[in-house]
Amino acid sequence: MTIAPSHQKAILPEVAAFLSQGPIKGFVGGQEVESSNGETFATHDPGSGQKLADVFAMQGDDVDRAVEAASQAFKESGWAQLPPNERGVHLHRLADEVERRAPIIAQLEALDCGKILSQAEADVENFVTTMRYFSDLAQNVQHRTVLAVKGHEAAVVRHPWGPCAFIVPWNFPFLLCGWGIAPAMAAGNTTVVKPAEDTPLSTLYVARLAQEVGLPDGVINVIPGLGEVAGAALAKNPIIRRMSFTGSPEVGRKVAEVCGRNLVPVKLELGGKGAAVVFDDVDVPQAAQKLVEAITFHTGQVCCDATRWLVQRDIYDGFVSECVDRLKKVAIGYQLDDGTEMGPVVSEVQRQRVLGYLEKGVAQGAEVVLEGGAAEVSPDGGHYVKPALLAGSLDNVAAREEIFGPVAYLAPFENEAEALNLANDTDYGLANSVWTSDLNRARRVAESFESGNGWINAHNVVVHGVPYGGVKKSGMGGGVVSIETLMDYWRNISVIRPLG
Ligand code: NAD
Repeated sequence: MTIAPSHQKAILPEVAAFLSQGPIKGFVGGQEVESSNGETFATHDPGSGQKLADVFAMQGDDVDRAVEAASQAFKESGWAQLPPNERGVHLHRLADEVERRAPIIAQLEALDCGKILSQAEADVENFVTTMRYFSDLAQNVQHRTVLAVKGHEAAVVRHPWGPCAFIVPWNFPFLLCGWGIAPAMAAGNTTVVKPAEDTPLSTLYVARLAQEVGLPDGVINVIPGLGEVAGAALAKNPIIRRMSFTGSPEVGRKVAEVCGRNLVPVKLELGGKGAAVVFDDVDVPQAAQKLVEAITFHTGQVCCDATRWLVQRDIYDGFVSECVDRLKKVAIGYQLDDGTEMGPVVSEVQRQRVLGYLEKGVAQGAEVVLEGGAAEVSPDGGHYVKPALLAGSLDNVAAREEIFGPVAYLAPFENEAEALNLANDTDYGLANSVWTSDLNRARRVAESFESGNGWINAHNVVVHGVPYGGVKKSGMGGGVVSIETLMDYWRNISVIRPLG
């Protein structure tokens, strides 16, 4: 482990010990496991560019063993047969332990993803809430619904599916791990998680915690590794009963194709190109501040972010200058430093992607409102970019494709109908927001978005109990954090007996 020299003092002893254990092993059937061929990969601190740890890179046979362990645990550990309240005891214990170790996990997450500490802390808190939410919800769902059918005794009975697979991206590794495994486990399934190669640490840590708190071996298995190897092997394993993929549309399509061949149901949570529609009756400084906070949140690496800002023409100039003033003042810095408001992006690849989109956007005629570009923050290195604003025709690559950085694209509109057309004119359909003091108009516009989520006078609003998912190129097959998510993790059997 090498931590950026100026920040070594801040590292917690437990984090240092976890990172210094030598190549970190995968976790399968309650055991720490090496990869079958001994191959490892390195995970880095995005804030310094330096290596944090080596991790064993699971191969196809390792992945198959992990699925086998999950399958065996499903059949033999008794987990699937436990009454929901007893499974709930386990999941609450895990939530409590994660809460107790929140400072450790948050620091590990901040180091691995580059997200600023307060945001990593919020992600850990979210994991705890998710675990408690689904474990309590599972106790309040009828597992047998009796149906009133003439001449028959009939019921629908719910059973867990079996081993469920999760492929997770690098932007919210711990939070998304919770969104995936909590409903699956609460319903009695077992799990195999493939974290992103850039950010495997918090998921590997929590698998070990799950064993410490007494979850049966094989209920949570974690297979770190490369996408094309470990991810691909998990997607094509015929024993998994459900696949949940969160990531890019390009990889999502591949995963869905492979699962389709095995007839394994797939849920896809994919990218976005969300719009914020700002009407001229808003409090301009307040709306500008909220959108600046949204685009700089986790350095813009947020699937549901507002990256197209559509602003009514008569406030356009004032709104733009408010945003520019605020974005210029955002404190870019190392993710663990006090006072940092925006950390690095996750890798050099991601930094080049952001810079490349700025270049391509300008080459296609976008006006540069705020230049952005590479930011030099620390002599230690690190992958920093400045916030940027482009403007002009929305028929521009930077307005059409997901950049995944602190870049927003601005365009004016005249009226509500035009605003809605522009907002919906995208391949994506994850989340859009409308900003206005006219609440009737707010509701009308929010309900007319072609997206899974419509937000009013706020952006990035994800609340447990409210379904969150995408349509069009942003996803299919379900959603997260609501009762529908839990119901997905049961298969139904209709049981019927003719009377008389
Ligand atoms: P990605 O698609 O490159 O990778 C996601 C995961 O897939 C990683 O674990 C990766 O190792 C794995 N993978 C790569 N190739 C694979 C293959 N051939 N087979 C199986 N698995 C493979 O995405 P990313 O760059 O890690 O994450 C960013 C993307 O995720 C963005 O598009 C973002 O919008 C999206 N995202 C969506 C949501 C949502 O809820 N809709 C949430 C977070 C991120």
